[in-house]
Amino acid sequence: PDQPVTSYTLITEGAPIAVNSHGGRAKCLQRLTRLNMPVPRTVALSFDCVRGIAQGQVPDAKDMLASFGDRPVVSVRPSSEDPDWGGPGAILNIGMNAARHKVMAEELGQEAADRLYTRFVQSYAVHVARLDPDEFEVDDSDSADALKRVLEAYEFECEEEFPQDPAHQLEEVLRSMARAWEGTTARLLRQAKGAPADAGLGLVVQEMIFGLGSGECGSGVIRFINPQTGHRQIEGRYKRQSQGRDALDGDAVFLQKDARGTSMEELCPKCYATLTGYGASLREKLREEMEVEFVVDNGELRILDAIRVQRTSPAAVRVAVDLANDKIIPREEALLRIEPRALTELLHRQVNPDAPRDVLLKGIAASPGAATGKIVFSATAAQASQARDEACILVRRETAPEDIRGMHAASAVLTERGGMSSHAAVIARGLGLPCIVGASDLKLKRKEKRLILPDGRELGEGDLITVDGSSGDVLDGAAELLEPTLEDGFRTLLTWAEDVSDIKVRANADTPADAEIARRFRARGIGLCRTEHMFFEHDRLTLMREMIFANSPDDRAAALDRLLPMQRADFKKLFEIMRGERVCIRLFDPPLHEFLPHTREGMRELAGALDLPLSDVERRVKALSEFNPMLGMRGVRLGITVPEIYDMQARAIFEAAAEVSAEGQAIIPEVMIPLVSAMREVEIVKARIDLVAAQVRAASGVEFDFRLGVMVETPRAALRAEEIAPHVSFLSFGTNDLTQMTYGLSRDDAGRFMSEYVRQEVYAEDPFHTLDTDGVGELLEIGAERARRSQPDVTLSICGEHGGNPESIAFCRQAGFDYVSCSPFRVPVAWLAGAHLAL
Ligand code: PEP
Ligand code: MG
Repeated sequence: PDQPVTSYTLITEGAPIAVNSHGGRAKCLQRLTRLNMPVPRTVALSFDCVRGIAQGQVPDAKDMLASFGDRPVVSVRPSSEDPDWGGPGAILNIGMNAARHKVMAEELGQEAADRLYTRFVQSYAVHVARLDPDEFEVDDSDSADALKRVLEAYEFECEEEFPQDPAHQLEEVLRSMARAWEGTTARLLRQAKGAPADAGLGLVVQEMIFGLGSGECGSGVIRFINPQTGHRQIEGRYKRQSQGRDALDGDAVFLQKDARGTSMEELCPKCYATLTGYGASLREKLREEMEVEFVVDNGELRILDAIRVQRTSPAAVRVAVDLANDKIIPREEALLRIEPRALTELLHRQVNPDAPRDVLLKGIAASPGAATGKIVFSATAAQASQARDEACILVRRETAPEDIRGMHAASAVLTERGGMSSHAAVIARGLGLPCIVGASDLKLKRKEKRLILPDGRELGEGDLITVDGSSGDVLDGAAELLEPTLEDGFRTLLTWAEDVSDIKVRANADTPADAEIARRFRARGIGLCRTEHMFFEHDRLTLMREMIFANSPDDRAAALDRLLPMQRADFKKLFEIMRGERVCIRLFDPPLHEFLPHTREGMRELAGALDLPLSDVERRVKALSEFNPMLGMRGVRLGITVPEIYDMQARAIFEAAAEVSAEGQAIIPEVMIPLVSAMREVEIVKARIDLVAAQVRAASGVEFDFRLGVMVETPRAALRAEEIAPHVSFLSFGTNDLTQMTYGLSRDDAGRFMSEYVRQEVYAEDPFHTLDTDGVGELLEIGAERARRSQPDVTLSICGEHGGNPESIAFCRQAGFDYVSCSPFRVPVAWLAGAHLAL
């Protein structure tokens, strides 16, 4: 920081270069030279120096060039702190001018000299003078003519001769690269990838090794893994008489011997052997998988550059696990190298390739995975849809930062415009959300909320489509999706994370399918089974309605008796799947009116089914309807006023536990009471449940144990935790309702104004997404502390949506919670987040 802003360093001299002052590329090049690899002479410019250049303080390029000998030709490459943050493209052959062109024609041949100069004029014109690239397109077949044309084009466009002074050329290149980094688009793109607002750019200036001329000459790129899968294999290309990354543009030869054609291994066996040897030592010394850019110059190998191989998340996991298994890095480091959220990318569903597909439209496959949902045309509609628990696909012309909340809420994103690095694509990949961009065949009529397809068909809001972000296909309706296949690298990482994490992870699972996924992701049990979801199936719904309409306790008991075996079977399945891991079953929570029809049509149907006069049904629906059902007759309030429902559920749980225990798998079920606000509620419900347990033990002859717990979802329950805790074994914080009640904010309606609230920074974040650690968090701490005061052994957990967020997990761990419970697909993220916290 004390260096003058115009400072630059020769990487072979001076102190070690730091990534946060000169960038990753400069640092890496210094390490390569220290490993005695043949790197051409390189100078590194620091972030401060480049910032100074952007503001007009360009260092004396004449002086810098002098250190490259008397006929310097150099390249400039970007060197940012994190290669994923991008940066301006490399510029090669700086220093080429008429005089040097003439000398080179004698040394390397006319054609090679023509090509070098042409190439420099092209990139200077486009990237430095910012002229129209179309004017500088040339046909490579006649190099002399191409050179003449680009020089003329330059003179015509700029009304001056192509700059001949190498120092002037270099100064202009440095200036243009420094400014490109400061541009708005570049800034937005890198910030979307997590770069801080003040991220710096370093630059490296390197002596050109041409890869053209006599003897074996050429250039290439090699890496030692497949960047999609992370599996170890040699990949890359070599192209004779070429430079830069030309080898990647086709027309190149293989690296390794290959039956399909010529290879570098045959053309230049010595260079090839040295190169692969370097690969192995780079992996060991840099403890990373590197991609190496090299040149062969008259049979001599030179290493120009090495960067960390850009890779998909699955590949990143594979590489980290392989490096740890090969003892190159410790396991802890392998865990730390993977961002917890990145794991969601490994958990994508796929469209079944064997099922028939009705392709409506094609676009660019911008973020992998597949999802089905109803079309929505705005971020607000997406949030409203999420509040209703309805999967939706956000369809936009293109997305902007205001849409991010909507993207969070959507299952997938489809845009008419944009490419792989458009806002939608970048953000969707970050969120692990399937995304298709640039579906330019569709016509979007936003005002009318309609989509017109290329074949003339139309779709509107609410229509069901499937987005296949892996292929770029938009499919009609709900396509058949396959669950993700999990690689052994992922499984290994998950076991390591589980070993290290000191906060346990359970899953919120209501169905056998959820429970199966939870187990595969190593959930240590079910933390929340929302039993009401089991009543929405058709045959049960009618029984449920019969129960609600029962006029006498006997009629009600009859309906519940028929529901009992169904619930018992549900629980038995869950116990069997979870094989001895804890299963926490929450007693009935929603208000009863949710099970009744609300349209006249529906009421008439129900009247027919129950053989009741329509007026009776209408009266009943009216009687049950509430102004504010979320704060009404739900949760334990129902348990107190209609206790037969909880009795039936408790019986079903205990009978299932007794049956599975009798089959040899000892089950200790957990029974959880929702929406408690007073200790007396717990006492009353507990007395009845204890009675049911005693009855089931007596009738079955099986001595099972169970644990009773309370959901802390009202502020009062948190405040009164000290008197509640002695009655129970566990407290689980339901932060969805607790957030709703702490803010006095309807979780179903907040989407309508949440974006505005966040935009005006009234709330830093949507508190239903990100745990409000200040307010709701304080209630969590108070509840935990007071509960432990009266009952030190009480188990504490969180089971709201926040349970899968790394930040909330950190908070809960700090507050001394025993476990978090989250949706099955968040379980791996939660394990890894737990491991990161423990390390
Ligand atoms: C909660 O309120 O946080 C909770 C887990 O329960 P539900 O979302 O079912 O209301
Ligand atoms: Mg709740």
